[in-house]
Amino acid sequence: MTIPDIVIAVDGYSSTGKSTFAKLVAKEFGFLYLDSGALYRGVTLFALEQGLIEGTDRIDTARLIPMLGGLDLHFETDRGTCIGDRCVEAEIRTLRVSNSVSPIATIPAVRNFVDAKLHEFGRKGRIIMDGRDIGTTVFPDAELKVFMTADDQVRAQRRYDELVSKGQTPDFQEVLANLKERDYIDSHRETSPLQRAADAFILDNSDMNLHEEVVWIQGLIQGKFGILG
Ligand code: C5P
Repeated sequence: MTIPDIVIAVDGYSSTGKSTFAKLVAKEFGFLYLDSGALYRGVTLFALEQGLIEGTDRIDTARLIPMLGGLDLHFETDRGTCIGDRCVEAEIRTLRVSNSVSPIATIPAVRNFVDAKLHEFGRKGRIIMDGRDIGTTVFPDAELKVFMTADDQVRAQRRYDELVSKGQTPDFQEVLANLKERDYIDSHRETSPLQRAADAFILDNSDMNLHEEVVWIQGLIQGKFGILG
């Protein structure tokens, strides 16, 4: 059987476990996983380090936009997200970056920069990509679209546990406030707001474990493409 090139788009709210889910699906079904949020986080880290963000959301866009052309932000198979020679996987996951990433992601020039990179990878085999606008803007013709959601408190607890497991010392209320704030900004921005594509399947995982989520998508993938995990 010829295995078709397929794009699966996984969008949804912050901390719904999109990347954990997408990574596991990639492994089970032989897809390449791409984390679009990591690119927005990479641009944010770069802007912070260049001194282009004051507070959490006052961004010097006039200086940032021309600098994007020279920003070597990419993924490496073994090291993940890198800026030039430097691996920045840990730095982009800190609360400092999380606090400024949604304002950065509202800038149309930043979105164009990230979209161009995502398109370089797309259509090169079987891809599963997670983000906020993959099924609506980046790959509106993706063969399968999933929209993830879960209860706020459940999501904040998951993000809190993840930060603790990475050796950070977060405040629960701050984590909850950050994800609500990001959801608000992401859903209300002018360019490519977070919204469910009309043809996306909703996955509410408030009361589901990862295994149940994979069984859920397995049914969809088998039914649609006849691929066995
Ligand atoms: O997925 P993650 O939480 O790492 O994404 C970080 C931020 O990047 C999101 O809160 C959102 O503001 C932005 N983002 C986006 N569009 C995407 C992926 C992420 O605007 N496709």
